[in-house]
Amino acid sequence: MSETPFERRLRVPVTNLQKKVFSRERITLSLQARVGEEGVVYTGDQGDLRLEAWLESSPDGIRVKGRIEGTINMHCTRCLEEYRHRLDIPVDEFYRRPGLGGVGSEVGKLRDIDMVEDDDYIVHEGMVDLNLLVNDNIMTGLPIKRLCDEACRGLCPRCGENLNRGACECGEEEIDPRLEVLRELLERDGEE
Ligand SMILES: [Zn+2]
Ligand SMILES: [Zn+2]
Repeated sequence: MSETPFERRLRVPVTNLQKKVFSRERITLSLQARVGEEGVVYTGDQGDLRLEAWLESSPDGIRVKGRIEGTINMHCTRCLEEYRHRLDIPVDEFYRRPGLGGVGSEVGKLRDIDMVEDDDYIVHEGMVDLNLLVNDNIMTGLPIKRLCDEACRGLCPRCGENLNRGACECGEEEIDPRLEVLRELLERDGEE
């Protein structure tokens, strides 16, 4: 799997932090992103999506605590157009030092850990991979109903036209209430 430059930015070196237990470091990253089929896809730097967090070292690893805030682009399930979704998610994850506290490790045995729920959060090659944190937290925080607007009119089932941009020519357009009265009058006339 090849890594994009944006993804690379989200892998943060923590070697210095690890040298001094309980030291902290502040990180701020801004990105541009959209929700793709398989998760968050970064589309640029300096976007509307911000990650602000403290990285704190402990004997067992690195804690990342902060928030993901801003907007992310995603597709409306009704009209299929891309729209900006606002989010503000508190994050708090722990990246374990490899070999510590995991399945079968000494610390793991001492703590009676038989199973580690999420073994992905590991300090790997002196770095924490915040892609994981961003992706997990955003994807689980997304609404089930993804709508550009509660009142989104969606697509015409016949011609596929986006009805938010106006009525299509399939004849399903709304009738002006004044014209509706006129039509009723005319119909009544016709019946006589
Ligand atoms: Zn829509
Ligand atoms: Zn239509």
